[in-house]
Amino acid sequence: MSSKTLKPATIAAQAANSDGARPVDGQTGAIVPPIHVASTFERAADNSYPAGVIYARSDNPSFAAPEAVLTALEKGADAKLFASGMAAAVAVFQALKPGDHVVVPTTMYYQLQNWLLGLGTEWGLDVSLVDMANLDAVRETVRPGKTKLAWVETPANPQWSISDIASLAEIAHDAGAILAVDSTCATPILTQPIAFGADLVMHSATKYLNGHSDLVAGALITAKNDAFWERLEAVRRQQGAILGSYEAAQLLRGMRTLSIRVRTACESAQILAQRLSEHQAVTEVLYPGLAAHKGHAIAVKQMQGGFGGMLSIRVKGGEAAAIATAAHVKTWTRATSLGSVESLIEHRASIETRDIGTPRDLLRLSVGIEDVEDIYDDLNQALKAAANA
Ligand code: PLP
Repeated sequence: MSSKTLKPATIAAQAANSDGARPVDGQTGAIVPPIHVASTFERAADNSYPAGVIYARSDNPSFAAPEAVLTALEKGADAKLFASGMAAAVAVFQALKPGDHVVVPTTMYYQLQNWLLGLGTEWGLDVSLVDMANLDAVRETVRPGKTKLAWVETPANPQWSISDIASLAEIAHDAGAILAVDSTCATPILTQPIAFGADLVMHSATKYLNGHSDLVAGALITAKNDAFWERLEAVRRQQGAILGSYEAAQLLRGMRTLSIRVRTACESAQILAQRLSEHQAVTEVLYPGLAAHKGHAIAVKQMQGGFGGMLSIRVKGGEAAAIATAAHVKTWTRATSLGSVESLIEHRASIETRDIGTPRDLLRLSVGIEDVEDIYDDLNQALKAAANA
């Protein structure tokens, strides 16, 4: 059965490819693919490479299964793994040419913005920042014929603003540009950007795809096997920012439970968002699943089955109260990153080395798969303890 007819939960659980086939090892029947550790592959006497595999920087057989799953999950044409989410994202910009104009969000993963406005600009990119949720502003910022790429993150760190992928794809395409979507926080379980017209999808696979805080990885998925994708393949092959074979196998294992982890995190995040909206020590809850959230209507259209496991709260009493709340948690873990089985809490302004407008009283919550009552009770006691300090 083709994966076009299989639901994401089935694709992920079975590690199926776009034809719906499971990665059963042809030699042994093993239902989990072997980990290939070879860095090089034997050339036949006729000078050919019988399996088409030459050297592990360019072709690693251990990437085949996880890349096939990502292709199937995103309903794309192909996928590539990278050493990290940043390596994947930067590869997209490095496949452009110096002088190319790119349009990127004012609110996005801050390290990528650091790269774009630092090394990326030094390398020759012409970078414009714009509020991607404001379509008129995006229309005014793209330069037809000059803009080669528009980048969007939705929901976007750390205020979870929502951007309309279908409208952005139209604006980008009208200007002769492609649209790339950082879909790390939506995951292919909730949103498949290619179906809305995106050309490229990027994931920090470190987050939900792997889901266990024990791996750093990145991925790109393309809608088409076109010339730009070939350039991207060359960037990976020549620059060598590749994942290790063991990590690729670990990622494949992590992805098998993607659906159940994401669904549980979504359900709990929705409950927490609603309860925290009524909490006396919280001035605002930022979560696209709340009707009051600015991006809620687009999120309803674009996210199926939930609004993600990420939310942020603004704590009454400002920055000191926010940091004190984080100091009092016992069940939550104070750490950066997101999308894992354990719930993480972070005073975001303390880590962001670029000002992307994050309020100083904001705590970012990555909701895990624990019992929701336990994580609510812990937050509740921490908020109360900080308020009474
Ligand atoms: N995109 C988003 C939305 C992220 O949250 C992160 C990391 O926090 C990245 C990209 C970068 O990914 P990595 O840490 O795997 O390089």
